Amino acid sequence: MKKILKKAKQTKTAVLHFNINNLEWTKFILEACEEKKTPVILGVSEGAISYMGGYRTVSFMIMGMLRDLKITIPVVLHLDHGKSMESCKKAIEAGFTSVMIDASSKPFEENLDITKKVVTMAKKHNVSVEAELGYMEMDPTKYADVFECRKMKETGIDALAPAVGSVHGVYQKEPKLDLLRIREISTLTNLPLVLHGGTGIPINLLQKAVKEGICKININTELQLIWSKKVRNYLDDHKEVYDPRKIIGSAETEMKEKIKEYIDFFD
Ligand code: 13P
Repeated sequence: MKKILKKAKQTKTAVLHFNINNLEWTKFILEACEEKKTPVILGVSEGAISYMGGYRTVSFMIMGMLRDLKITIPVVLHLDHGKSMESCKKAIEAGFTSVMIDASSKPFEENLDITKKVVTMAKKHNVSVEAELGYMEMDPTKYADVFECRKMKETGIDALAPAVGSVHGVYQKEPKLDLLRIREISTLTNLPLVLHGGTGIPINLLQKAVKEGICKININTELQLIWSKKVRNYLDDHKEVYDPRKIIGSAETEMKEKIKEYIDFFD
């Protein structure tokens, strides 16, 4: 991840991080990105990992898919919101190439300390590390502190996700991003910055954020919304179908179109 984010930073573009929830999503994302010849970050949350069976299941599934589908683009397998040293360790041992240590709910010094430990462990295996600062809320008092970001850089992380206004899931009011703060953090740290909660933010606002230093955009809910709407309609329209492959796969076209649309905006 370090390598592809460095390039994105130099060219003022962003790499897309899509969360995976099952085998089908992984396949759709990989195929769409391969078609566009663009690198991709596959983000997997702890919840999605245990849903799919475990760290090794996820890692081996992806390694197999990369070969069987003859994927040639750079693909990062990234632990999204790793909550502990232990889950980062499990991910690294299973072959993940990048981990996020999210200790943002802890006091700053504690966050710094655990992040430093994860960096030391990850570097031994050539694995990239993303850290988080601030609280992912729409309240500006919860945004990341610029000077804490500067201090966090000293842990040796490869990417930083500062809270700058975005939230996970569906926005309850108009999304706003603190573009000035993104610029300040980017200038002060010179780190590739990550924007969580990419769903629901208008593309032109995302593009402005990329100009200010965002190099990685995380998307999950958007694909969930598209998938669930399509599957619901498919089941309504095809009452006779019981083959799970047809049902789960019925959103393939729509999901791939959305993924490719995002790629076109940030390539
Ligand atoms: P959304 O679900 O809001 O797109 O956010 C995804 C994310 O930030 C994953 O870390």
